[in-house]
Amino acid sequence: MSTLKAVRGTRDLLPPETELWSHIETTARNIFARYRFGEIRTPIFEDTQLFARGVGEETDIVSKEMYTWEDRARAQSEKAQSLTLRPENTAGVVRAYIEHGLGDTGLLQKLFYIGPQFRRERPQKGRYRQFFQIGAEVIGPPSSGSESPLRDAEVLEMLAALLDALGIRDWKLLINSVGSKEDRPRYIELLKAALKPVVGQMCVDCQRRAETNPLRVLDCKVPEDQSIIETLPKIWDSLDAGSRAHFEQVCAALDACGVSYEHDQRLVRGLDYYTRTTFEFVHRIGLGAQNALIGGGRYDGLSELIGGPKATGIGFAIGQDRLVLARGLELSEETWSSFERLADVYVAPIGEALNAKALALARDLRRDGLRVELGDGSFKLKKSFETGNKLAGAIVLLGEDEAASGILTVKNFSTGDQQKIRREQLAEHLRSLSRT
Ligand code: AMP
Repeated sequence: MSTLKAVRGTRDLLPPETELWSHIETTARNIFARYRFGEIRTPIFEDTQLFARGVGEETDIVSKEMYTWEDRARAQSEKAQSLTLRPENTAGVVRAYIEHGLGDTGLLQKLFYIGPQFRRERPQKGRYRQFFQIGAEVIGPPSSGSESPLRDAEVLEMLAALLDALGIRDWKLLINSVGSKEDRPRYIELLKAALKPVVGQMCVDCQRRAETNPLRVLDCKVPEDQSIIETLPKIWDSLDAGSRAHFEQVCAALDACGVSYEHDQRLVRGLDYYTRTTFEFVHRIGLGAQNALIGGGRYDGLSELIGGPKATGIGFAIGQDRLVLARGLELSEETWSSFERLADVYVAPIGEALNAKALALARDLRRDGLRVELGDGSFKLKKSFETGNKLAGAIVLLGEDEAASGILTVKNFSTGDQQKIRREQLAEHLRSLSRT
């Protein structure tokens, strides 16, 4: 029979790498707490309409990357429904915001999430079909201050603080404004007109985008298309005074707190719901084509697109898989080895009759805060030593004599020292060994 493997584009995460994943999650949680974000967990699948309306029918995500299925009705009371594995989490958060009337408080809602997302993309390093995002949203009725450029700058400053706390230094923040919902159609018309005479010389993807989603032409990475793209109208020239002032105030607030950024006029990003500020944190080394670590922006019309009240907001999603890659690249040997830390002690029962007592001893030592590996009385002494040496800094032998006398033999693997230690002093002794 053929062996089964993880599905293409998905993967297993194993220790010690998973230590790095949880380290990143813990650091993110700590930073989010300082800015008073609360955690939200939305379902992994939603009504397909949520993404079709929220993210946009013409986007790559909705038009070709979603995992969608018809969920059959199981009972008379249930309707068949088209469901989709979430390709991103902002639409789900905004749905929840509407469904639970979170805007009724009149206060800004600050919510973060951590979890898997699903897109049927062509897998490669840093791009998976199940990938993980750590994201956050700041959303509320306009009266809560949710439209203020200060919110944008605060979110960006928080991300800089998070990357800093993670020890990731080699990043660059790109920001742009894609304008309000009045500016954008104006620009798209100009863009369409400018594309008409030249699009025939561009790549097939651009030819398609020019029809379906012209803004995405600006995202094209094909080298031959770049000189044409440079000649296209710039979005800045289509922004009204309000959008320009908003963008300038975001920049001024970033300047005030020393967060460096670059205004990238071609940054439009792949989701239709963005208005005004859009941004990306890119990593300059090692990630190749998949160099975007974080993407985000403002989505002032999203709530209304999915049937909710006016609720303006801004959010971002960090690609956790890519953050792990970037973090791994910059990680020192020392930090990696701390993830692979040995247990403090290996408890080795001598003979199966001692197994139960060994479990009780291991339990006591663990209660004392030590990290303990428990061997097995069926092992020969030599095998216990060999196994203990692989897993722990020290070994404690528990045979009939030790159980009767309460005096245990402890061997420190790093020095080779062997000592007799009283049961009452064992935890303290082991702690002193693991400090050295
Ligand atoms: P988006 O939701 O498209 O704005 O993407 C936000 C971030 O999620 C990107 O900057 C990436 O770091 C990450 N990301 C998006 N798609 C994938 C994928 N297929 N595999 C891994 N990471 C991804």
